[in-house]
Parts: sequence; structure tokens; C-alpha cells
Amino acid sequence: MQKNDLVPLTITDITNEASGVGRYEGMAVFVPGAAVGDQLEVRIVKVLKSYAYGKIEQIVRPSSDRIEDGCGVSRKCGGCSLRHISYEAECRIKQNWVTEHFRRIGGLDPTILPILPSPSLCGYRNKAQYPIRRSPEGQVQIGFFAPRSHRVVENHFCDLQPRFFGEILELVQNFLETYHISIYDELSHQGLVRHLFLRWGEQTGQIMVCLVINGKDLPHADSLIQILTKAFPQIASIQLNCNTAKTNVILGPNCRVLYGSPVILDILCGVKVALSPLSFYQVNRSGAEKLYRIAADFAGLTGKELLLDLYCGAGTIGLSMAHLAREVIGVEIVKEAVENAKENARRGKIENARFFCDDAAGAARSLAAEGLRPDVVILDPPRKGCDRSLLETIGQMAPDRIVMISCNSATAARDTAILCQNGYQAVQLQAVDMFPRTAHVECVVSFVQTPGGASY
Ligand code: SAH
Repeated sequence: MQKNDLVPLTITDITNEASGVGRYEGMAVFVPGAAVGDQLEVRIVKVLKSYAYGKIEQIVRPSSDRIEDGCGVSRKCGGCSLRHISYEAECRIKQNWVTEHFRRIGGLDPTILPILPSPSLCGYRNKAQYPIRRSPEGQVQIGFFAPRSHRVVENHFCDLQPRFFGEILELVQNFLETYHISIYDELSHQGLVRHLFLRWGEQTGQIMVCLVINGKDLPHADSLIQILTKAFPQIASIQLNCNTAKTNVILGPNCRVLYGSPVILDILCGVKVALSPLSFYQVNRSGAEKLYRIAADFAGLTGKELLLDLYCGAGTIGLSMAHLAREVIGVEIVKEAVENAKENARRGKIENARFFCDDAAGAARSLAAEGLRPDVVILDPPRKGCDRSLLETIGQMAPDRIVMISCNSATAARDTAILCQNGYQAVQLQAVDMFPRTAHVECVVSFVQTPGGASY
């Protein structure tokens, strides 16, 4: 097989990155945008030792999973890799991904519950982070990065965000053009405006607009405030986030309020939550309510328990369960999120919750050294999963139950295996789709102590 060859291919599987896979002359060929059952004519674009990459030249016979993808830029933009198949097929694939990650690691044998679909398939995101760059022709471009690239694909009205995000985006674009504001250039690390960050409190209607800048000040900021607040009186916060580092990380460490409040409010599982730009908040609010209900169910609280909420963000999970527990202790590494969590507890008059700003592993070690014994531990780590040392410390603390929530089932399966070596068994596993049309899926796992203790 050589580059540029045109080969017939039947798609038999789909990878975790949502590429279709077929075999040609014994070699696996990965094809983005393909669906299981597709009969294709594929142009080979890259050949490696034991596999190759191709792109669809022609769909000879479409898979029965295929639907109209309904987006003009989906093939160029890096966001939606599952738009071309039905949501039913998408859920089937996601259920399979999560199940396979746990099956591949031997000895984990939780009851696998059916995937919970997202309550809505479009407009579900409450946050967007749009890169802003100048095109070679000199125009201000706002959109999303193309896959594996930092080329901006202009997409003002992405179907995953509420429509008014696109209207705000266009107001910001006009402002940047009209006032000739300097735009960031990654190669030279020169120029000012890097990203537009939007967040929406779906239940309160409050909107946050934050411009990420490579500097301290935004020229003509007063005009921007006027333009935005006139068109959208629901804007409750306009901020600058200063990111002067040469990095792919979007937000820098400091925010400055230009207008309104440093936080916006939303309501999640009945708890009013204040959110700053730097605080993590689930992007699919109604999906998150479903997810946290399952977590609460798995936690099995009766009002007597000490609940340790590790990786707690703005405290949303612990606070939503505080009325069912004796006490909640939350640990989170981002200072602003911990401040939000404390404020959220005060606002909700929740008096049995405390929050600490610390690394989860370090905090757990100190709490264990003080002799703290939580009854239930919630783990909700970022994609890379938990530190092994944290999982070992939890084993020593010996809570009755553990609930793990994860946006990466591969690291969740790995961490589950470690907990299983430290005295626990995984009882139930459920995938929850919070990210329709994309290759992401959330999962929740419940654990109880293994009878007889740790099995090494
Ligand atoms: N439970 C929260 C947040 C989950 S996202 C919610 O549901 O909203 C994961 C969180 O872990 C983020 O807030 C991130 O800042 C935090 N985090 C990342 N590394 C951490 C660490 N080493 N120790 C504690 N928190 C960490």
C-alpha cells in the first residue's frame, strides 16, 4: 500500500478517537468520519509499518448508522467526530468504549449499567473557549482549532453552544476589527488577544465574557463593555484573563473584572453555584444533574456519614449531597474554585461543608495522618486520573464506599484496578453521556470494601 492509493474498504470498528477502522491486505486503515458498516473508497494519506491512514473519497454503501451531519464545518473542525451517525449508534459506541476499558483490565467485574444519554443533543454546552487569530489576509478569525493543528476554523454558530454565544462572538469580532486591536500570534508570541471565553448560567441566565490577553490591559475596554451590555443585559461579568505564557493552556493564572461581578451564578441539583472563569464546571448542566444523581445513589448516604469530596472544583458534588451527610470535606487545587466552593456553601446556608485548597494526594495523606476516617469518598479527577499514592492512602483510610467519576474511562479503569489492590471491589459502572457528537463520555464507578480486606 502506498500514499495516494485508492482502496476499497469496509469499516468494521471504531477507535476511541472515533476513527473508523477497516482492513486492506491485512493492514488496518484508520478513516476519520467513517461509520461501522460503511463500504468506502478510501484515499490512503499516510502509510506506517503496520497500519495506514485514509480519507473517504466516496461512500459506496453507507452504514445504516449514518445520518446527515447538519454542520457545514464538522469535517474541518476538531470538535464533533460523531456527528455523522445517529445518537443511538453514538451511545452504543460510547457504552462499548467504557465497557472495553474495564474488560481489558482483568479482575474488574462491575455490573455494567446501560449508558445514560444526554438530555439534549445540541446547545448543551454552557462554556466555549474560542481561539482568536489573524488570517493570512489580515482578518480577525474566531472559531475552533482544526484537528491536530492551530489553524482556526471559523465557526460562529456552533450547534453545541447556545445560539447567542455566536452573537456575542460576532460583537467581539467587530469590536476587535473596528478598534484595530492587536491579535495574538503564536509563532512570534506577539500580539494581545488570544481567546474569547464565554460561560452561561443556564438557570439564572447570567452570562460571563472573558477575553484572554497576552498583556495587562485591553485598549478601548469601555467601548467593549458598552457594546456587550447594550446587546445582552444578562451579561453579569466581563473580565480579562492575563496569559502571557508561551503555552497551549488557554487561561492564565489571573483575572481582572472590567464590568460586573467576578462570578456568575447557576443552579445545579438545587444548589446555587458561583463560578469564576478559572473554576471547573461541567459544561452540560442538565447532564451533570443526571450524573450527580447517580453518584449520590452510589454514595448511599443516610445522614450519618463523613463525605470526602476529592477534586471538588467549586464544590458542586459535595454541596449537592451535604443534606444527606453528617459532614462534607472538599479538596481542590485551584484557589479560585475553592473560594467559589466556600462562597457556594455560605450562599446555600450549608454549614456542614469545609473546603481546602490542596493537592488531593497530599491532603488525603495529612487527613489520614490526623486519623480522619471518611465513610464515603468521592473521586472526580481530571483526565489523567488519580495519583497512585492517593488511591493507596484511601485504602488506608478504609471508607465504606468510594464513588469515582471520570471523563476518561481508560484512566478510570487503571485507577479502579489500583483500588482493587487496596481493599476495594468495583460494584457498578455506568457511562453517562455529557458530550453528544464528540468522542468524549463520562463514567461513574461505585466501590465497596472487599470482604477480608486488601488483596495483593
Ligand atoms: N468535582 C468537580 C470538579 C471535577 S474536574 C465538579 O464536578 O465540578 C477535576 C478537578 O480537579 C478540577 O477542578 C481541577 O482543578 C482539580 N484538580 C486537578 N488536579 C488536582 C489535584 N492534584 N488535587 C486536587 N484537585 C485537582
